[in-house]
Amino acid sequence: MATLPILEIPHPTLRKRAKKVRTVDNKMLKLAYNMVDTMKSAGGVGLAANQVGELWRIITLQMPDEEESRVYFNPEILRRSGTREVEEGCLSLPGYRGIVNRSVWVRFKGTDHTDTTIKFKADSMLSQALEHEIDHLNGILYTDHLAEHEKLYRIEEIKESDLEEDDEQSQIGNYDPKESESPASLKLK
Ligand code: ZN
Repeated sequence: MATLPILEIPHPTLRKRAKKVRTVDNKMLKLAYNMVDTMKSAGGVGLAANQVGELWRIITLQMPDEEESRVYFNPEILRRSGTREVEEGCLSLPGYRGIVNRSVWVRFKGTDHTDTTIKFKADSMLSQALEHEIDHLNGILYTDHLAEHEKLYRIEEIKESDLEEDDEQSQIGNYDPKESESPASLKLK
């Protein structure tokens, strides 16, 4: 497994729509597992294939409270409900965070690393991460959802002014793996 370079704005691949994965074969699995390594070494909660320059519909997630990383091929939001304001960051926009509107919950469908189609309802950080990463596959960045220009700010400014409030917020793109038990890596079949 290997880590891959993460593209940053304004790289044009971040604005392209990724293609459907027809077969979850070894090539796609290798890419997905390299994405897991890349996401973990960058300390991210999620990563989309566009961010490593590959236009395939693949996302990886590492929830802070879960041991194993998640890998989804052809992920889709089937239904979304409600609106809430959340704080968000992105590995492709290092040094910034912003306040965006996300759904309260989503109904999700995707194919996992065992080539099994799964569906589930997600809320909280998982729902936010799924929306964020699936947006990437459609060329959308979280900054497209900012309600106001002022709601994007540099992380240094947060540290000076808002540090105490930060604990309750979702931390996509800024998750520190050292703060939780070290998650086990996915194993290749
Ligand atoms: Zn992102």
